[in-house]
Formats: sequence, C-alpha cells, structure tokens
Amino acid sequence: MSKKTEEIFNFSETSDACIKCGKCIPVCTIHQVSPDETTSPRGFIDLLGAYQRGDLELDKNAKNIFESCFLCTNCVDVCPNALPTDMVIEEVRADIAEKFGIPLFKRIAFYLLENRKVMDIVMKFGFMFKTCAFANEKEKGGLKARFALPMVKKGRLIPSMSFTSFLNKYPENIPAKKLNDNPQDKPLRIAIFIGCLANYNYRNIGDSLVEILKELNIEIFIPKKQQCCGAPAYFTGAIDSVERMTKANIEYFESFMDECDAMLIPEATCSAMVKHDWQVFFRNHDMPEWEARAKRVTEKIYMATQWLDDNTALQEILKAKGKKFDTPVTYHDPCHARKVQGIYKQPRNLLAPNYPMVEMSDPNRCCGFGGVTMQTEKFHFAEAAGKPKAAMIKETQATYVSAECSACRVQIGESLNSAEVDTVFKNPLELIAESLKK
Ligand code: SF4
Ligand code: SF4
Repeated sequence: MSKKTEEIFNFSETSDACIKCGKCIPVCTIHQVSPDETTSPRGFIDLLGAYQRGDLELDKNAKNIFESCFLCTNCVDVCPNALPTDMVIEEVRADIAEKFGIPLFKRIAFYLLENRKVMDIVMKFGFMFKTCAFANEKEKGGLKARFALPMVKKGRLIPSMSFTSFLNKYPENIPAKKLNDNPQDKPLRIAIFIGCLANYNYRNIGDSLVEILKELNIEIFIPKKQQCCGAPAYFTGAIDSVERMTKANIEYFESFMDECDAMLIPEATCSAMVKHDWQVFFRNHDMPEWEARAKRVTEKIYMATQWLDDNTALQEILKAKGKKFDTPVTYHDPCHARKVQGIYKQPRNLLAPNYPMVEMSDPNRCCGFGGVTMQTEKFHFAEAAGKPKAAMIKETQATYVSAECSACRVQIGESLNSAEVDTVFKNPLELIAESLKK
C-alpha cells in the first residue's frame, strides 16, 4: 500500500458531519447487546474523530471498541446524513491490523483463502477427520463440537465440509441445448462465482444453482481460477490480502466477462463485496485505475435470485410446473442483500409459488454474524445478537428459514441450535431446486 490509512481516509470529516441526533442508536446491533455510548455508531464516529485529531491513542481498549461493530449497516440506513459508519470502521481496522498485527489463526485462514489448492487439501483432511471432534448433525446441516475447542464451545454448530469442492466437482463448461437451427440464436451463457462457504461447506447451493440454470436451458461457465472475494480479510483490516485477491479476480474476470451474459453469485456478502466494496476499497486507497476496472468488470454481476427473477421465466415455470409444498418458509433479509443492494423482493417472489411464506416479526434485523473476529474472539456478542433472531424464527413455526447468505447460515444455524429450535436453514436456491425436481 502506498499510503497509510489515516492519510487517505478523513475520519474527522465524518465525525464533524454527525449531528448527534441519536437516530442510529436504537437500531445498532452492538448497542442492542452492549448498551454503551462508546459501542454505538455515534460513539464510534466521535472516537474516530478524536483518533484522527491525535486525541485518542489506538490502544487495546480502542481496538476492542472498534472491533465490536457488526458492520451490519443498520446505522447507515437511518442516519439523516447517511454517514458510512461501517466503512470508517473497516478503514480503522486496517490501522489496528498494522499496529497490533493479525493473529496467526486469521493469517492462516487468509493464506488458505488466497491459495485454493492448499485449501482443497485442508478441506479433504477436514472431511476425513471431522468426526473425531464433531458429531455430524445432518438434519441441522452442520457439525456439533463434541468437546470444547479453542474458540468453539462444546455443542456449537459449525459448517460441515465436502470432500470435493463445488469448483472441483463440475467441468468448466456445461453446455445448453441448441435453441434452433439458426447459429445466431444462442442460449444465454452465465458464469457462477460461488463464494468460499458454498464452495467448501454448503455445496448444495451451487448444485441447486446448476440445476436451476439447466432447467432454464442456460449454458453454464464455471471459472475455475476464481479466488475468494476478499470480504473476510476486508472486514478484518488485512488490506494486503484484499488487494491481492481483488486484483487477481478482476484480471481473471476481464479475460472472460465479455463472452458471458452475466455472472451470478448465490451469496449476499460476496456479491456486496464484489459489486460495492471493491470500488470503495480502491477509491479509499487511491487506486482510480483499479476502481474503474472493478466498476467495468462487475457491471454484469448479480446476486443469483435477483438476476433469475428479473431476467428469466423462472417464476412462471415455478408457478406452472413446480412441486407445491406445505412446509412454511420464513425469509431473513441479509444485511448485505437488503440494506447494501436493495434486494429483498426477488427471493420471496421465487419461493412464494411453491411454499407457504410466513414473515418473521423483523426479517431485516441483523442475525449477528459480524465477521471472523465476531465469530471467534468476540463470539459472546454474536451469541447475544443471535437470540432475538432465533426467537422470532421460532414464533413463525416455519419448517425452513431461508436467506441467500452462508454467513447468515452459520450464525442463524448456531442460534437455532443453541435455542433448541427445529427450523432448518436453506438457501432459497436449494428450496427452488427442490420444487423443480422431477
Ligand atoms: S454497522 Fe451495525 S453494529 Fe456497526 S455501528 Fe452501525 S449499526 Fe452498529
Ligand atoms: S444517525 Fe447519523 S447523524 Fe445521527 S447520531 Fe447517528 S451517525 Fe450521527
């Protein structure tokens, strides 16, 4: 990186623009579980202004405070000045990483995310030896810790892993049927960006997307050299990893996106990172050429249900031929889908023809995932934030809770497990593919 974060990001400008109205406080996820002014959007912004002016030392206490934000963007949604609290927190985390270093377990995780071949081997080992430390809870869709492990308490539900990843399971091209004898009339060609959790842990999401695209007679392209979108590293302040992964992905996407009609991402966080945060990252780090390249190459990239509902006849097909189930579904809105990308109607439109839909009391309330730090060092906050979500899901008596986000799946799955609620989590694409099964 050519410049230090505090040289390129003006925290005090955001701080000066805060009119201290407090509208952000009741909706703030961390303030709901830790009701203290310092852990609120207004408090974070005030402290960041003091940090920029040199009045606040970035010590362990400040680190602890700035790492307690869930990056849920609830505050941005209600702020009269649309102050980007989540973004300034993401930026100060880069300073924290530089000053305190990144813990070894996170460095290993980011190394694996950057090196798929090594990750493939690690996941195979994980698959083979998982039952030594975990019980396979198939109906809950995860693994339950048999005993307390570092940062994983006994009984906690964590994602399972597949022996073969989604990217290794399929060929690069899955052709569609010819439309007619005119060579000009070609089926659509759609690429898939799968996301790391769906690639290794929840493989049925990608399998379902492939089945849906086959039903629509769409040619599928699976770009094998895709890397992690960089979101886990970005939310942790590991900016060098973010820079390497984003640039490698952009260069790779540029080599094939002109031959594709769209690229679909069945994940809210990855799609928000690719479509929104890549450009923000390059802008904040003074790389205008890369910002322009990110903008151009992501123009035809969409969250999967968004594109399927807006651009295909899938809804009509589901109404006409889809199997009808009497198992109610409640839909949770991932922060990175509804608040960041405005996507909430499309997944519901595609589920409603075949499943009775029941709305939970606040589908827009953050589930409390919060990122790598929240799921490890600060898991007590994630646990507390997950309880109200589990309670409102229980109240619906739905068979399934659905959200197009595997981070929400990790968090909601464990919240339901710890509250002993039987509702099962499924990505909407899994439920849609189930209705299309012959
Ligand atoms: S992003 Fe969420 S947790 Fe962080 S300050 Fe805003 S509302 Fe609170
Ligand atoms: S809503 Fe915006 S302006 Fe009002 S206190 Fe919160 S951050 Fe400041």
